Amino acid sequence: MKILVLNSGSSSLKYQVIDTKTEETLVQGYYERIGQPNAFLTHKLNGEKHKFEYPAMNHETAIQFVMEKLTSEEYGVFKTLDELDAVGHRVVHGGETFKDAVLITDEVVKGIKENASLAPLHNPAAILGIEACQKIIPNKPMVAVFDTAFHQTIPEERYIYSIPYEYYKKYGVRKYGFHGTSHQYVSGRVAELIGKDIKDLKIINCHLGQGASICAIKDGKSVETSMGLTPLGGIPMGTRSGDLDPSIVTFLMKKENLDIASIENILNKQSGVYGISEVSNDFRDIENAALEGNKQAKLALDVYHYDVACYIAKYAVAMGGVDVITFTAGIGENSPFSRNEICKQLKCFGVEIDEELNNVRGKEREISTPNSKIKVFIVPTNEELMIAKETERVLK
Ligand code: AMP
Repeated sequence: MKILVLNSGSSSLKYQVIDTKTEETLVQGYYERIGQPNAFLTHKLNGEKHKFEYPAMNHETAIQFVMEKLTSEEYGVFKTLDELDAVGHRVVHGGETFKDAVLITDEVVKGIKENASLAPLHNPAAILGIEACQKIIPNKPMVAVFDTAFHQTIPEERYIYSIPYEYYKKYGVRKYGFHGTSHQYVSGRVAELIGKDIKDLKIINCHLGQGASICAIKDGKSVETSMGLTPLGGIPMGTRSGDLDPSIVTFLMKKENLDIASIENILNKQSGVYGISEVSNDFRDIENAALEGNKQAKLALDVYHYDVACYIAKYAVAMGGVDVITFTAGIGENSPFSRNEICKQLKCFGVEIDEELNNVRGKEREISTPNSKIKVFIVPTNEELMIAKETERVLK
């Protein structure tokens, strides 16, 4: 099937057309600054980038423009849109309503809207993309693929927070987890690489990008993950705090006389390795600064690596052991330094990685030594392919 995968942000739109048979990306692009007069599209076909400045003032105009490109002689991959089989939409929060990817109906759109309070920055953007497609290509089947769905198998004792139960009942306050499509893709892929049934493996996947989460996968199902009600929890990230003593929030609000928006901004945009290092949110800059002797940069990395290692240890307990640890996303795929620093702290579990095999960026490979008690792999993530495959599965 030829599937258009759409990832709608509040002012952006990422797309790929994927042939699920060959698993090939036929074309991809990124529309930025939607809603502003200087909106532009970067469209990539056959390795070549084409930039179009077109002032799309809303998602509908942007998607209409993308459709024109997809069917144009010069930049397109289709003669007509009849050749497009379906659209797969990435939706961040499915709450407890959506335990799996679903065919989009009016009822589903309503459900996504109802979950918007759990992801106010993300779900409304996905709705913009879905409703625009409903207008432009009303007869194409569309599927919603949720970041949270993969984690709906986490048992209750692991998703309930120790606060009054009434808040779970009233507002759905619980752990949901995110990056589900990435965790699902990487765990499936590493099972293929090892040549074992995923049901016979205990996997810990470390999705370490600007946003980061760790997931324990047993029998092919998520049984624990580090992000929580929102993508702010878990390990420290580029600019997000990860887990904290909850009193820090009210303590700072009182001391600095902060309102809700300001404290949310601090925890989401000024914390993480950026907050500690005061250098950058980009791990390349922080690594360089640490090498040049910047103590706060080194401290930020030390905190980060320690927390990731501790989560891995915790999840080994959650599964009663671990067969394989995988690294993915920007840092996981590209930083030999971070992988090494994390694995060094797991020596007590018998983890041993090969320095030379580890010295690589963005390559799919095993990096543990033959003696290592736990296998360690780098598996570049591919969320778009997973969304395309999920779309196909739901339609079939
Ligand atoms: P992602 O959110 O998965 O796209 O990850 C983006 C992040 O990956 C960047 O902000 C960098 O911090 C990190 N990254 C990318 N390349 C490298 C690298 N070579 N070494 C360390 N970190 C990297």
